[in-house]
Amino acid sequence: MAKIGLAGFIHETNTFSNTPTPLENFLNQSGFYPKLLHGDEILQFGEKRLNIAASGFLADAAKCDLTVCPLIWCGTEPSQPITEDVFNHLMGMIEKKMHENFPFDGLLLDLHGAMVYGNLQDGETEILRRSRAIVGNIPIVTSFDLHGNISKECFELATVMIGYRTYPHIDGFENGQRCAQVMRYVLDGKPLYKSFQMAPFLMPATTQPTTKEPAQSLYAQLPIVEDWDGVISASIMEGFNACDLPHTGPSVFTYASDQLTADKSADFLMRAILEREEQFSVDLVPPFEAVRRAIKLQQSTTQPVILVDVQDNAGGGSPSDTVWLLKELVKNDAPETALGVLWDPHAAELAHQAGEGNTVEIALGGHSLPGHTPMTASYHVEKLHEGDFMGNGPMVAGRVLNLGKMAHVRLGNIHIVISSDRMQALDQSLFRVVGIEPCEMKILVLKSANHYRADFGPIASAIINVDAPSAILEDPSKIAYTNLREGVRLKGLGPVFSKSKP
Ligand SMILES: [Zn+2]
Repeated sequence: MAKIGLAGFIHETNTFSNTPTPLENFLNQSGFYPKLLHGDEILQFGEKRLNIAASGFLADAAKCDLTVCPLIWCGTEPSQPITEDVFNHLMGMIEKKMHENFPFDGLLLDLHGAMVYGNLQDGETEILRRSRAIVGNIPIVTSFDLHGNISKECFELATVMIGYRTYPHIDGFENGQRCAQVMRYVLDGKPLYKSFQMAPFLMPATTQPTTKEPAQSLYAQLPIVEDWDGVISASIMEGFNACDLPHTGPSVFTYASDQLTADKSADFLMRAILEREEQFSVDLVPPFEAVRRAIKLQQSTTQPVILVDVQDNAGGGSPSDTVWLLKELVKNDAPETALGVLWDPHAAELAHQAGEGNTVEIALGGHSLPGHTPMTASYHVEKLHEGDFMGNGPMVAGRVLNLGKMAHVRLGNIHIVISSDRMQALDQSLFRVVGIEPCEMKILVLKSANHYRADFGPIASAIINVDAPSAILEDPSKIAYTNLREGVRLKGLGPVFSKSKP
C-alpha cells in the first residue's frame, strides 16, 4: 500500500473585508468548520460521509490501495487576509508533521484555492511551495473549492488539482474520492500531461450557482470531457472576486494521457465559458424595491419568498451584521418574516441576560460597515441557544455546528436569528435551533449568496437578490482592484480592468 500524507488548510480570503482572521478561528470549532485536527483526529472524517474532501479521500483510500498518514487539518469562515504570523504558525505545524512522518509516496492537500495571507501573498501557492520543498517530487494531489483563484505557479507545483463541481458545494466528499482515484493513477506511473487556462472575464457570484444557467450547462461539460479518450480529470474554477490578486477569476485545468488531449480539453472548456459570457452579468434589486416585491408576491403563495442579502454574506468574508433589509421590512410593516444569520455577539449576550419571554433594548447590527447604523429597538426574546447542534441540509448533514450564543428575537412580525460566530444562512437548522420553522414564514431574508439554495431552494416560492451594501460588491466592475491582471473584463462583456485607470 502506498503511504499518503494528508493535510488540510482552508480559507477563502476577502481582501476587502475588515473582519479579522485570528488564529483562534482556526484552532476552535466555529460555525461551519471543526476545530483544528491533529494526526489521527482527522480519521474521524472517514467514519461518516461528510461534505469535506478529506472525508471522501479517507473513505476510498483502501479501495485505491492507499494508506493515509493524517497530518493537520484546519479551516475557518471567510474573512480578511490571514496575517503572516498566523499563516506561518499553521503552515509551520503542517511542515513539522510532514518532516516527522516523511517519507510518503504521495501527498493529498485539502485546500480552498482563494487563500491570501500577509501582504497580498497567495496562500495555496505558498502551501504548495513549502510542501514541495519537503516532499520533493512525489505526487501532490490537491482538492479545491470551485471558488479558487488559481495561479500558474500553483498549477505547476501541484501534480494534479481537482475542483468541486457544484455550487452550492455538495460534492466535497466526491471530490475527495476523485482525488483518491487520481492519486492511484499517478502512483501507478501512468502518463500524465496537463493544461491550464485563465478566463478573460470575472463571473459575479449570483451568476455562479450550478443549479441554474449559465453555470448548470457549463458544468455539465465536465463529464462529457472526462469521457474523451485519454482525459483523466477536468475542472472549472469560477473564482472568488473579493480578492485583489493578479490571477483572481475563473480558470480551467485538465489532465490527460497525452499533451494534445490535455490542451484540447482545456480549449473545449474555455470555449464553453466564453460562449456563455453574456449571461455572467449582474441583476440585483434595491432593498426598498425588493421588500415591496416580496410583500406583494407572498400574498399569492403558501411558500416563503426569499430575499437574498448577497453582499452581506459571511461565506464571502462580509461581517453579516448589516440591517438595511431589517429597517426596510419594519418600515413596510412586512408580514411574518425571519432574517438570519445576523452576527452580533453583544446583542446575543444582551438577549441571554434578558432571558426568554422578556423584552430588551438592543442596538442591533450595523456595527461593522463604516457609515452604517444599528437598528435600535425593544426586541422580544423568543428563544435562546448556546452550543452544538447538528446540521441537516445537503451541505452540512452530519456535521456539528456551533455559533456560540444564539438568540431568536422578535420585532413585531420580524424574527431575527442572532449569532456570536459568523456563518452564512445555508441550512434550515440555523433557524430551527432557535424555534423558527422557515417553511411557515411568509418572507425569509438570508445572508448568503448561493449556498442557501441547497437547503432553502426547495421551499422558496420566489428568490430576489438584493443590492444592500456590505464588504462584498456583487458587481466586480465596482470593486476597487489595484492588482488584478491587465485587460480582464470585470463581468461578462463588462468593462476592462486597467491599472492606469482610477
Ligand atoms: Zn466556494
